[in-house]
Amino acid sequence: MKEIITDLEEIKRLGEQNRDKNFKFRSFLKTRDGNRLDEIVHELNEKISKQIDCTRCGNCCNYLTPPLTNKEIDSLSKYLKLTHKEFEDNYIELDEENCKCLSKIPCVFLKDKKCSIYEIRPKACSEYPFLHKKNFSTRLFGVIDNYSTCPIVFNVYERLKLFYNFR
Ligand code: SF4
Ligand code: SF4
Repeated sequence: MKEIITDLEEIKRLGEQNRDKNFKFRSFLKTRDGNRLDEIVHELNEKISKQIDCTRCGNCCNYLTPPLTNKEIDSLSKYLKLTHKEFEDNYIELDEENCKCLSKIPCVFLKDKKCSIYEIRPKACSEYPFLHKKNFSTRLFGVIDNYSTCPIVFNVYERLKLFYNFR
């Protein structure tokens, strides 16, 4: 079994080094059966996620600007003792699809590599990196981006190459 890599500098370096190959692999994956691909990714994700401790990483919080629902904004406003409007004025910006997203990078709630609002973190954060979801083949641009920052994505994508014997 291939060794799990969690060193963020190494993953970043390999992300740059393997970028072309990752796009070629994306084209290959696009020709596979989507349902079968989802099954394989879900299995790999389950195995890899168990071996990586997100509480010792937190790297995604250096890059994510998660979208928030109005309900989530209400919870966070209450937590910070702000009004909904004050929260939006200070922490939210609209993305290109007009979704309300946390605006600061790294995330303002990241403290010592940990989420300081973990219990009430947005759904988009708790679901990241989305490898348990269906339709993996439709999200491959995002996967390649996340490959160089998220150890779970990196190791799942590498094992997927091994599974398909992709060189
Ligand atoms: S809210 Fe928490 S989990 Fe989400 S990006 Fe910010 S620090 Fe990370
Ligand atoms: S989801 Fe990925 S980048 Fe985020 S904390 Fe876990 S391993 Fe690190």
